[in-house]
Amino acid sequence: MSAAEFDLIARIRARAATREDVVLGIGDDAALLQPPPGRQLAVATDTLNRGVHFGDDAAVADIGWKALAVNLSDLAAMGADPAWCTLSLSLPDEGGESRQAFVDGFLDGFLELAAQHRVALVGGDTTRGPLSVCVTVIGFVEPGWALRRDAAQVGDEIWVTGSLGDAAAALALAGVAPYCEHEVRRNSGDARTDAARLRERLHRPTPRVAMGRALRGLARAGIDVSDGLLADLGHLCAASAVGACIDAEALPASAALLAACESDARRALQLSGGDDYELCFTAPPRQRAVIAQALRKLDTPACVIGRIEAAPAAATPPVRVRLADGSAWTPARSGYQHFA
Ligand code: ADP
Ligand code: MG
Repeated sequence: MSAAEFDLIARIRARAATREDVVLGIGDDAALLQPPPGRQLAVATDTLNRGVHFGDDAAVADIGWKALAVNLSDLAAMGADPAWCTLSLSLPDEGGESRQAFVDGFLDGFLELAAQHRVALVGGDTTRGPLSVCVTVIGFVEPGWALRRDAAQVGDEIWVTGSLGDAAAALALAGVAPYCEHEVRRNSGDARTDAARLRERLHRPTPRVAMGRALRGLARAGIDVSDGLLADLGHLCAASAVGACIDAEALPASAALLAACESDARRALQLSGGDDYELCFTAPPRQRAVIAQALRKLDTPACVIGRIEAAPAAATPPVRVRLADGSAWTPARSGYQHFA
């Protein structure tokens, strides 16, 4: 370990908060963590690479926020309580000062979100290489209570939290392909504040941790919407060996998205855009009132957007979308694919 690396780790350690179940945090060969008796551990990892997940113009604090947010979203989608995380940083050799500035700015966003969810940073790795950030989060869930992808049943209602399409609309505004193929208004009425709201959703997504927790024992299956609703709900359908029918009119949109585009563009962004980090879950219809009640206490809305149905014939997409007049909406594409 070089002196510079030691320095960076010392800066991280000085700012990382701890919690009572961290027996030994940053500084030894491994962290020692004490899980609550009788709980299962839920573990998720996500990597963000420069040029793939964020551009050169991204605010460093936003990268820190998002690196943790996307991981917390995965735990939320399992209904787990987040507790601990690790952080592996690969930093280019651009001089010690810029490395330090990156780490400081990164931690501003990362630790702000960690504090909101009482997540302790307990270890990691710091190396030289292309700019890349890998975060692992660990949480707890009662045995049998996790919201798995493979648990949906025919007849379940399909729910989604918050609203869809905002992050994709921000990408469209920024001219990022293929989102920019959709018409998104830049200058009408409150377009500037609307655009700022859309960008906030893209750069500082809100992981729906409390909602995921509230759904334990009420919802059946769940997934977070990171690659677009059609793609992610498609994964859930494949894992559960079912199909899904979505009502286009029922898809939730934010005021900013409604102001920014007409219905065709909006629908495409809501169905195929990624990066929203909302939860999509299924539950039997008899649970509708109980779920609405449980979620009402939290400050984000959730709504029913469709139903789980029998799996379609092989080679037919698992998710179909119905327009108001009963006709089918056909997507141009269903979501982001890294190796497409
Ligand atoms: P080792 O050589 O044993 O892997 P390291 O020098 O990589 O040790 O790390 C020393 C300590 O600092 C370890 O406890 C490790 O978990 C922690 N650490 C290293 N990098 C980070 C980081 N980016 N964030 C948090 N903790 C880190
Ligand atoms: Mg190491």
